[in-house]
Amino acid sequence: MAEYDFDLFVIGGGSGGVRAARFSAGMGARVAIAEERFWGGTCVNVGCVPKKLFSYASHFAEEFRDSAGFGWNVGATTLDWPTLRDNKTREIERLNGIYDKMLRGAGCEVLWGTAKVVDPHTVELDGKTFTAANILVAVGGWPFVPDMPGKEHVITSNEAFYLDKLPREIVIVGGGYIAVEFAGIFHGLGVEVTQIYRGSMFLRGFDNDVREHLAQEMGKKGIDVRFDTDIEKVEKKGERLIGHLKGGGIIEADAIMYATGRRPSTGGIGLEDAGVAMNDNGTILVDEHFRTNVPSILALGDILGRIELTPVALAEGGAVARTLFGNNPSTVDYAYVPSAVFSHPPIGSVGLTEEQAREALGDDLDIYLTDFKPLKNTLSGNEERTLMKLVVQHSSDRVVGVHMVGPEAGEMMQGIAIALKAGATKAVFDATIGIHPTSAEEFVTMREVKRSYAREAAE
Ligand code: NDP
Repeated sequence: MAEYDFDLFVIGGGSGGVRAARFSAGMGARVAIAEERFWGGTCVNVGCVPKKLFSYASHFAEEFRDSAGFGWNVGATTLDWPTLRDNKTREIERLNGIYDKMLRGAGCEVLWGTAKVVDPHTVELDGKTFTAANILVAVGGWPFVPDMPGKEHVITSNEAFYLDKLPREIVIVGGGYIAVEFAGIFHGLGVEVTQIYRGSMFLRGFDNDVREHLAQEMGKKGIDVRFDTDIEKVEKKGERLIGHLKGGGIIEADAIMYATGRRPSTGGIGLEDAGVAMNDNGTILVDEHFRTNVPSILALGDILGRIELTPVALAEGGAVARTLFGNNPSTVDYAYVPSAVFSHPPIGSVGLTEEQAREALGDDLDIYLTDFKPLKNTLSGNEERTLMKLVVQHSSDRVVGVHMVGPEAGEMMQGIAIALKAGATKAVFDATIGIHPTSAEEFVTMREVKRSYAREAAE
């Protein structure tokens, strides 16, 4: 491979790119990695990590209120937004430094700037060209705001992390992960939140019971969630923003945040010129070993349009390194990838939704469902209820989907995902002794079938 400057040139220093670079260097490859904005990509800088820190911050408000029923008098509480924002930024900068150090420590050549693919083995960066046996494209995505008059006045999640001051009222547009998470975050931080979604129920693709339960709980907390609503134009009047609604009417706030999806940042980096095949939406087509149709160019992460989650990109980065330099052609198993939505209350989910299971298994299905008031809320007076659901294949007894809306759903779902990956049946769940008193024990004590498509079909 010495005919090239590097064995691997990685474009993009996000979760997947960094993982592939470090692992490859660890396997003895000569690796360069280029990043133009921030080490750690979306997740570290304007995604998972700062979002979770804000999410922690926003839960305190409810905790302060809940504590009264346990005898605490915490007095008046106020939030100092600059303290939260700047402490968060300091932590992100610390992580940026760790990424840089890790890459250099692994022996990678670390390059700063916008890299472009020139041909299947050449990358250009700031007027310099580098050759590489393999080029890995790991450039991630960027928030998408639909075209409309006044688009320049709205913010996205990128800006939400750095606001000069917290708005008093905010409108959040969208119904995906980011929209529901930020609705909860801003509400918890004391902002009046209206969330609008163009369809009849948000979180398309999630289990219907989960979607409805979350909508209800968010409403109970005081978040104004409006469905079948969309904005066609935004106007700025002084410090206020006016959203003109499709079908008439207006909505006013100090800030309007669009969380209407993300688009792959694959345009303008030379991929078309190098002959890399892409879908119309900019996602890149790869084989099971993450090779594009140009064999020396590979791609991973959000730009594949598969599952846009950091742990998935990490798995893909590891697989790329092993395939290229570990003498171990590797792929990623996308079955039973758990995920959490850090909404208020949070969602944890793994496997098939009831709707997906109906498609895949037809009537061969039993649904277990429970909806209860957690023990803590007996004294707190908090009206929030928890939902738990098991989707079970009737004939094999295999649990094929588990869903939850309630505190610590994400923490619980990681363990449940192991069980599902191992092929656990409902009988195994039943034979597992619970941990008392927890909400989690409900997962092993659900005895009554809520809906049995199998039984109904047999009748
Ligand atoms: P999503 O794709 O999840 O949601 C986009 C939302 O915007 C949908 O509700 C969609 O509606 C709506 N939308 C799209 N286009 C328009 C439009 N033109 N006008 C009005 N509404 C529109 O994107 P997110 O940006 O929320 O998140 C991106 C990805 O990042 C997620 O899919 C997830 O994989 C990842 N992520 C994961 C998190 C986690 O693990 N906790 C947290 C945050 C992000 P419709 O459904 O009708 O198309």
